[in-house]
Amino acid sequence: MEENNIFKMRRIALSLLYLSIIMFILGAIRVIFGIIGGLCISSFFYLSLVYWRCPTCTKGLPIRHSSIDKAIYCPYCGNKLINDTEEASSKNTIVLLILVIVFAIICTLYAKKEISKEDAIKANIIDSLKVQTLEILQGNEEVKKYIGASYEVISEPMELTIEDTYLMVIEGDKKDAWIWIIIDDNNEISQIKVSEDDKEIVIRVNN
Ligand SMILES: [Zn+2]
Repeated sequence: MEENNIFKMRRIALSLLYLSIIMFILGAIRVIFGIIGGLCISSFFYLSLVYWRCPTCTKGLPIRHSSIDKAIYCPYCGNKLINDTEEASSKNTIVLLILVIVFAIICTLYAKKEISKEDAIKANIIDSLKVQTLEILQGNEEVKKYIGASYEVISEPMELTIEDTYLMVIEGDKKDAWIWIIIDDNNEISQIKVSEDDKEIVIRVNN
């Protein structure tokens, strides 16, 4: 192998390492970024173990960032690690760094867009759940008798950690009540429970 090739591979490997850190952070938003991060860090270890070696004695050099990254001579055999093409290689480092940054920016923008899309969908679901629930409550005589004919929402439907359940709180003429909205797989209301400490009214909704 040419002498400068070990440094070239080292730079590529380090770029992959830095990229993997960014991808792992973005992995919190989308699993795919975590997977890309996993591939990057695996490639980093692979390239480091295979190519980050002294070309003369073939001993492996430290994988962690160390003074060897700037060394000219092998710490084991003392032979030259580097040749005279350093100027060209520092230009390569900048190109690699720019590529890593551009890729990371694209991924971040994509993740951000995905988040706002999800938020919009969620807000839509909550809004339509609220409207539908109020309609259903209006049409239920038992509810009217219990909490009063008119009421207002004092807490918008909130997704609970219990799957497929939203909780809304309303303030009625007669009573305040907790409204449990249970949805099915298509985000359609399947059941509404109106409850207060002394009573619970269950309304089944047929879609
Ligand atoms: Zn050596």
